[in-house]
Amino acid sequence: MYMGHYAIALGARRWLRPLPMAWLLFASIEPDLHDVLGSLVPSLGIGPDTHTLPGACAAAVAIAVVTALVFRRIGLALGAGLLVLSHVAADYLTSRLPLWRHGPMVGLHLYATPWADFLLEAGTIAIGLALYASSPDLRRPARRGVAAIAVLMLAFQAVWNFGLGSG
Ligand SMILES: [Zn+2]
Repeated sequence: MYMGHYAIALGARRWLRPLPMAWLLFASIEPDLHDVLGSLVPSLGIGPDTHTLPGACAAAVAIAVVTALVFRRIGLALGAGLLVLSHVAADYLTSRLPLWRHGPMVGLHLYATPWADFLLEAGTIAIGLALYASSPDLRRPARRGVAAIAVLMLAFQAVWNFGLGSG
């Protein structure tokens, strides 16, 4: 999944408001960031384990522990951990990933059907941003910005799915 991950983080803010938005976004794409880290600093990489069930669970526990230590609320810690798990769950819809190291490859691989992936991600963006906008603490200018964010996210997603004159 691509833009959908960010939409999930934005939607989760409704329940996890004390956490900084940057922390929610970080948790929602932590497995991909670990892939990047591993390619930059191979000794810190864990290969495909960033997106396996044991790897995702370990990352979720780590993020939850850090959140609990810093923000001292168990509900926030659980929410941050769930965001990490949501990443891999969503990726099983759009990709094919090993369940564990050398384990069976599973997933719907919607990336292979770009319009289907676009519909899934567009729906996730719509729901995530609707939840974000319904947050009681948001001031009116922020609510108005949500439509612009939605257009931007859909545009990025369309480029991801359909490319720019590729072929
Ligand atoms: Zn991923």
